[in-house]
Amino acid sequence: MVMKTVPEFFGSKVFDERMMKARLSAEVYKSLKQTIQKGKKLDASVADAVAAAMLDWAVENGATHFTHWFQPLTGVTAEKHDSFISPAPDGRVIMEFSGKELIKGEPDASSFPSGGLRATFEARGYTAWDPTSYAFIKGKTLCIPTAFCSYGGEALDKKTPLLRSMEALNTQAMRILKLFGNTDVKRVTTSVGPEQEYFLVDRAMYEKRKDLMFTGRTLFGAKPPKGQELDDHYFGTIKPRVEAYMEELNEELWKLGILAKTEHNEVAPAQHELAPIYTTTNIATDHNQLTMEIMQKVAWKHGLVCLLHEKPFAGVNGSGKHNNWSLVTDTGVNLLSPGETPYENAQFLLFLVAVVQAVDDYQGLLRMSVATAGNDHRLGANEAPPAVISMFLGDELTAVLEAVENDTPYNGVEKKKIRLGTDVLPRFVRDTTDRNRTSPFAFTGNKFEFRMLGSSNSIACANIMLNTAVAESLRQYADILEQAEDFHESLHTLIQDTIKKHKRIIFNGNGYDEAWIREATQVRGLLNLPTTPDAMAVTLEPKNMELLISHKVMSEAEIRSRHEIQLDIYCKTVRIEALTMLDMVQKDIFPAVETYTCHIARAIDTKRKVMADLPCKAETTLLSRLGMLLDSMAQRVELLQDALHREADRGDWVSKAACIRDEVLPQMNALRAVCDEAETLTDAKAWPFPTYGELLFGVK
Ligand code: ADP
Ligand code: MG
Repeated sequence: MVMKTVPEFFGSKVFDERMMKARLSAEVYKSLKQTIQKGKKLDASVADAVAAAMLDWAVENGATHFTHWFQPLTGVTAEKHDSFISPAPDGRVIMEFSGKELIKGEPDASSFPSGGLRATFEARGYTAWDPTSYAFIKGKTLCIPTAFCSYGGEALDKKTPLLRSMEALNTQAMRILKLFGNTDVKRVTTSVGPEQEYFLVDRAMYEKRKDLMFTGRTLFGAKPPKGQELDDHYFGTIKPRVEAYMEELNEELWKLGILAKTEHNEVAPAQHELAPIYTTTNIATDHNQLTMEIMQKVAWKHGLVCLLHEKPFAGVNGSGKHNNWSLVTDTGVNLLSPGETPYENAQFLLFLVAVVQAVDDYQGLLRMSVATAGNDHRLGANEAPPAVISMFLGDELTAVLEAVENDTPYNGVEKKKIRLGTDVLPRFVRDTTDRNRTSPFAFTGNKFEFRMLGSSNSIACANIMLNTAVAESLRQYADILEQAEDFHESLHTLIQDTIKKHKRIIFNGNGYDEAWIREATQVRGLLNLPTTPDAMAVTLEPKNMELLISHKVMSEAEIRSRHEIQLDIYCKTVRIEALTMLDMVQKDIFPAVETYTCHIARAIDTKRKVMADLPCKAETTLLSRLGMLLDSMAQRVELLQDALHREADRGDWVSKAACIRDEVLPQMNALRAVCDEAETLTDAKAWPFPTYGELLFGVK
């Protein structure tokens, strides 16, 4: 067989632009493009024609089924396969797929989380085709990206509010561009490139660990003699098994039209990263969900397991996802890229301060958008950004903003004062200062990088909040500037005022520093929300509800349902972990330590039969320590069980979540500490599952 080159097979499993053009009549193609670009309603005959073309293409490519592919609030994707077959009168079957089936589906919504919405929508839910994201073939199934809503029309998924937030941002950004005289732009969208971190472990070892299988992270494990101390893994040579994995992963992603670009080893042993080239946010979101799924599938084939949990190993760096975000026009201009002329730079500065204001005003919502039980282990630990949100702008931009704020000369332009929109605004160069890796929200030359997302998070939530918060800054600016008598004067004052009011969020120093957390919270008044229950509380604050409702991104009912679902998922996640711990301690760890203790006791006995007064000091010390640890283990098992009973007795999700955070998690940590110490004292051959050392260094 002749090997195909990448350009030959790229996108071969996607019904993309090329396929549409090749397989649809000129008329149908034009009509579909109108729908994709302008959101025009698709009429039935066009839908039928598109469905017929998709069917032919899918069947030629080996597909037998189709599914509406959607993103319910579980955070993973959902699909229900229907085959194309339809009986013909003569006993044969024909393959069928109608426009109606393409456009609308009716999954049973009662099996997906709906929060308080369940009562109002009965069991019925609808999926509706999102024609802006291409259909694709996965395995033998044609997947149609869809939005998912209830019978009453409330969104039950992550895609719907994301599309609404993009619309809100487009509306407000267009008002601003018009004021700057940009009449050729028809649409502003947001682009995202998510960098995805993950761990790879050997599948045979994984299967010996119930904690990894049930919870995605290790709940026990003593620190290995070697961890990431030598910094020898970051960008290190990729091992052959991992290389073979990455090769196949890239191929699978490329076939799906996903622009996988960069791959390298990360800081921790067994940790890696994959970054795609950025694209429109809703497509980037679909692609990231698919990427996570395919990463896991391909790993399994290679005898590996891909761990997407935020903190698979205590004491070792966790995994995040960097959401690189920018605003682009349909004419191809990046609005966060400093321009060539002072005029363009005034526009750039306005968009820049809009993001600064958005992040300051809605810190709580941004923090909340990445809050999960898994990410709680990471934020605030020593590798990830802290739970306090601040922004890094780099030295040059910070100096420019200071000069604008204080009407003082800026060094870059012959010591002239900066007046926005006039010829003294400097040309900026892309910042060459050191990248700040500790900042939760960093400007990186022509985009912002939001680094608080957990590796398993859907990127939809963070982008919904970010888009909407920026839409709100821009709305306020447009309201002022549209009424201005002197545009330049108003613009100057507006940017100046915004800097004054929101500069507290700008911090270019080390975000890991304890002193920073104190300054941030005590001097600057920034929010520090270390856990999911803390972060969830801000969702229902009037200011935050008002933001989402006024921009028509979510209704009050949708916000409340999401709040409940997130707390529910938090509680269930930790509960499963606690139950897994109890199971592993009682069935594996305690018996193993007990057996080893008896072995030591017999050894002492045997030796003393030979020599009655032999002191056996080492054995007796070990025996007594292990004995104490066993007692302590039994006691802590009971304490954890008690904490779980208390959680079960709590009535509402808010107090359940508080109980999980304040009572269950501390008991889990206490139980783990005893078991990890026992591991260091027990014969390796007697230990019931693979150790940290084996897991982290086991893939060659
Ligand atoms: P760095 O290595 O400096 O973080 P890269 O250029 O490698 O930056 O980009 C990292 C990620 O940011 C990639 O996924 C890339 O596609 C994405 N990215 C680059 N430019 C943009 C942009 N304008 N909007 C959104 N994402 C972008
Ligand atoms: Mg980066």
